[in-house]
Amino acid sequence: MEKRIISIFANDTHISLETKRILSAKLESAGFLPRDGYTDEAELLVCIGGDGATLEALHKYDFPNIPIIGINTGHLGFFQEIHPEQLDDFIYDYKSERYSIQSMSTVKARVRYGDREHIHRGLNEIVIRGSHCYTSHLNISIGGSFIERFSGDGIIVSTPAGSTAYNYSIGGSIVDPRLRLLQVTPIGPMNTTAYRSFTSSLLLPSDLSLEIVPENSKDKRIYIIADGFEAKYDSPKGIKIEYAKTEVRLMRFENYDFWNKVKTKFL
Ligand code: NAP
Repeated sequence: MEKRIISIFANDTHISLETKRILSAKLESAGFLPRDGYTDEAELLVCIGGDGATLEALHKYDFPNIPIIGINTGHLGFFQEIHPEQLDDFIYDYKSERYSIQSMSTVKARVRYGDREHIHRGLNEIVIRGSHCYTSHLNISIGGSFIERFSGDGIIVSTPAGSTAYNYSIGGSIVDPRLRLLQVTPIGPMNTTAYRSFTSSLLLPSDLSLEIVPENSKDKRIYIIADGFEAKYDSPKGIKIEYAKTEVRLMRFENYDFWNKVKTKFL
């Protein structure tokens, strides 16, 4: 019988690398074939580290469609489900199929520049901001209707999964991941007699997209930051941000409850 392959990604801290070594040995003893890094034949991706490690693996391996389990090695660990001392329980529960899958929606940005288009994807969010400390002026349309010329540091378009990350730090709302929506939260909005910008989050249903046409007289560079991964564009023509079909499938065990996790990590 062919061995079942399990891919393992770890960040480079000592405890994560040690956890990877121990997990690989335990998986082998349990009849699995552990692989360092992602392979298309894998049935499961294990990410060892904090949420940052899970985000890094997702971007490195282009959002694979297989279930993902996070092992938290001493970080906040909002996506992470188990701790290094629970490896035996994890293997037992996995073999006996005692788990559920939490599907997390993602967000996609299509950036038009020159005659090209580039796509960015995020599990947490897409941030759009100008360079240095210059004010960004962003012409925002929702569902094809022009809404306003936003002025400030920028905006965050977050998924429900990312609502507890950067979005939460700047006053956005925490959203249950079962809801299908995008949250648009302003970063440093200017609201004066000279500039009028929305100052609280907007919630958009999954079938409405956001179109942003940046304008900036001092410096026309725009940063698009997807889950902390930054790209820089000179005078992009426009950015379309939409709810994406790609889902991230996180493995959860019996006691998982989103709001309980919020309570233990934030409240
Ligand atoms: P990072 O150091 O990898 O992450 C910053 C913190 O955000 C870490 O404590 C991380 O948890 C936590 N985090 C990540 N995703 C989360 C989620 N969905 N819910 C709750 N906490 C979450 O920073 P980075 O490499 O710049 O960017 C990664 C993420 O950090 C971004 O997607 C962004 O949301 C967030 N971020 C937050 C702020 C802010 O709050 N002011 C600023 C920039 C970026 P772990 O400790 O488990 O890794």
